[in-house]
Amino acid sequence: MRKIKQHPFLLNSYITSIIHKKPIKNQFIFSFLEYSDKGVNDPLDEKSHSPVRGLVHRYPDRVVLTITNKCFAYCRFCFRKDNWNNFEGFDLENAIKYIEKNKKIEEVLISGGDPFFLNNTKIEQILKRLTAIKHIKFIRIGTRVLSAMPSRINIQTINILKKYKPLWIAAHINHPDEITGEFIKAVHLFTDNGMPILSQTVLLKNINDDAKILKNLFCTLVSLNIKPYYLFGCDQAIGNSNFRVSIKRALEIMKTLRGNISGICMPNFAFDLPNGGGKIILEPDRILKHEDKHYLFKNFENKEFGYEDI
Ligand code: SF4
Repeated sequence: MRKIKQHPFLLNSYITSIIHKKPIKNQFIFSFLEYSDKGVNDPLDEKSHSPVRGLVHRYPDRVVLTITNKCFAYCRFCFRKDNWNNFEGFDLENAIKYIEKNKKIEEVLISGGDPFFLNNTKIEQILKRLTAIKHIKFIRIGTRVLSAMPSRINIQTINILKKYKPLWIAAHINHPDEITGEFIKAVHLFTDNGMPILSQTVLLKNINDDAKILKNLFCTLVSLNIKPYYLFGCDQAIGNSNFRVSIKRALEIMKTLRGNISGICMPNFAFDLPNGGGKIILEPDRILKHEDKHYLFKNFENKEFGYEDI
């Protein structure tokens, strides 16, 4: 029972309305397999890169603000699920002071939980403070609102957000079954008002670890003006073993996708190294041999081609 208490099982009304679809159910329903798990509480070691409560500074030019631990989704594979019960809070004043002092920071990713769990007044307060800092060039909001509570995005929210452009939306979506009429309506509210959307997908065993499913997802997203950005390996957080897909399998999927879908539909395959090692991006290896300027490559059909470099 300890893990159920630690990582509670919660479903909102929207997810309940689409949970009859198996790929959705498998992402959100508690499984007893979580008990036998060996993962860790903080797989990205965010705590040791957090100089201020709720601010993570891992790369020189950007920071992440975890402004809430509340989320619309409560995915069983969440890498921040330890925050669900053990969140230390977000210190806006000191986060702003920290960013003001560190002039190399050019980008802020507002994350959570889900930032849209906060009300519009609170979101505007944060955006106003961040956009007043001269060296901040743009802001990203990482959210699952489109696939977990799309009705939260309405014209009042959009009218506030659009005052703080350039503002990018990084939308978490894992399966084509998450694309509903409500999802599309909320997407249009962002894109028609000049806020571009990038997608972030977690590669999940028995949910989307299949090139056909991902092709369908990525091509549909592009048709809705969403750029597939990352396909993430599932982090080694506690309770996640059952969802993880091997790097070998992930690269096979990427290889099948590459050449079979347009480059605009291809995301980067990335995963986070443990102990705060940061993000790593992997591509299937195409170089068979390399000697001086002479390369031998294997193309997407596994045919070999020589190439003379400059
Ligand atoms: S949407 Fe993101 S933050 Fe929310 S539970 Fe899922 S993985 Fe965690």
